[in-house]
Amino acid sequence: MILGGAEEIGANSCYLNLDGTGLLIDAGLHPRDRAERALPWLEGLDDRPSDAVVITHAHTDHVGGLPYVLRKLPHVRTVMSHATRDLTHDVLHNCAKLLKSDVTRWFPKEALDYYKRDVIEMIRHGFEAVPYNEPWVIRGFNGMSDVSVRLHPAGHILGSASVHLSCNGMSILHTGDIQFDHQAMIAKAATPREHVDCLITEATNAFSDRPNDYAQESKRLAQFVNTVTNANGSVLIPSFALGKTQEILRTLYTLMRKGSIPQLPIYTGGLGVKISKVYDQHCYTEPMRTPGFEVSDIPQERIRFDQLFTADYMRKPSIVVASSGMVNKGTTSYALATAWLQKPNFGIAVIGYQDPETPGHALLHSGVDRPFDFGGRTMKRSCLIDRFRFSAHASLEGLLGLIMDVRPSTLCIVHGEPEACDHLALCVKERLPNTRIIIPRLGRSYVIEQGSTVARMGSA
Ligand SMILES: [Zn+2]
Ligand SMILES: [Zn+2]
Repeated sequence: MILGGAEEIGANSCYLNLDGTGLLIDAGLHPRDRAERALPWLEGLDDRPSDAVVITHAHTDHVGGLPYVLRKLPHVRTVMSHATRDLTHDVLHNCAKLLKSDVTRWFPKEALDYYKRDVIEMIRHGFEAVPYNEPWVIRGFNGMSDVSVRLHPAGHILGSASVHLSCNGMSILHTGDIQFDHQAMIAKAATPREHVDCLITEATNAFSDRPNDYAQESKRLAQFVNTVTNANGSVLIPSFALGKTQEILRTLYTLMRKGSIPQLPIYTGGLGVKISKVYDQHCYTEPMRTPGFEVSDIPQERIRFDQLFTADYMRKPSIVVASSGMVNKGTTSYALATAWLQKPNFGIAVIGYQDPETPGHALLHSGVDRPFDFGGRTMKRSCLIDRFRFSAHASLEGLLGLIMDVRPSTLCIVHGEPEACDHLALCVKERLPNTRIIIPRLGRSYVIEQGSTVARMGSA
């Protein structure tokens, strides 16, 4: 049963009942919705068994609902990779901050109690960290079946993992958010390619036919930086604090080392800096492109919030990497963008996914000198803007490669817009006509059988 993230990128959470042992994979907070779909739909569990929560990675849409889930299911084990455990702490405190400034009349107010500082500090002590590629067991309660679990590097962000489950001969692989191409920092996924009975896969990029081409996009970014800085302007890169910030810093550093762009001051700040420290702590132990490379090796100036509009980057060519990635109102990137918009020689490089309802999306689709609604303010854009694709998600090609290798009897498609889920389903139908394909609906149960073993997504 999908409790969040069905035909959208939402409060991702998938409930599985394997021969009487229940587990949740992920416990997300919706990136935007603050009403019914803000948190995983736990009411759907009724009195179904729940023994463990396995977290695939520390992005808000996968871990941000954890305080709520653990308040409702206080008895469950919470398991994740070592790096995810270290990241989750900062991410949850940030979720608490976001929620406080973002409560709508629909949001269950009592849920805010789960995000108090002392509650987060308390629950984090119960998080269990496990290494990649080694099996561990969720013991079935009251004689129910044991479930063997292995995490595999998913190539998405630091600590990201795919989850491989086996129970009484049945195997299930949940990809989590996955990337089969190398990024600048994180090495590509190392998912086992053996047959599974059921594959649950993300589909974020499945509607785009463009493969990821880091080299090409780096070249375009270098051209953009050169155009702006040659005109004595500065470049703003709105960036998610976790993942995108570290990847873009590494990309900029490489471009500077190669002489593709000049040695410019790079400004960073806020949560991104804290997260970079966790990247550095794991630079030898996690699957990195260059083991031992530290984000702190890249010279960086701090963004000072008391000098946001008067700092040197307003006068001297510089690059400012600031969150949020979708330029949400109230964030550093939003405040800076309002200043950037008025300067014809400045530029904004958009590098991440832009939800259609965010200021980042409005910015990206704005015309020069035409009024547009920018987070509730009418603004005009004078500065340059361009979009660059540095995706941390698998291309359609990558997803089909995995699916063809593991040849699942059942395929469940989640974590994608409806057209992405449909497109992936069509492509698989052509190639594997005997595979049962499910695009699960929120809260509906599905039964997956293999021999005498029954796995239930829910408990139909
Ligand atoms: Zn993610
Ligand atoms: Zn996600």
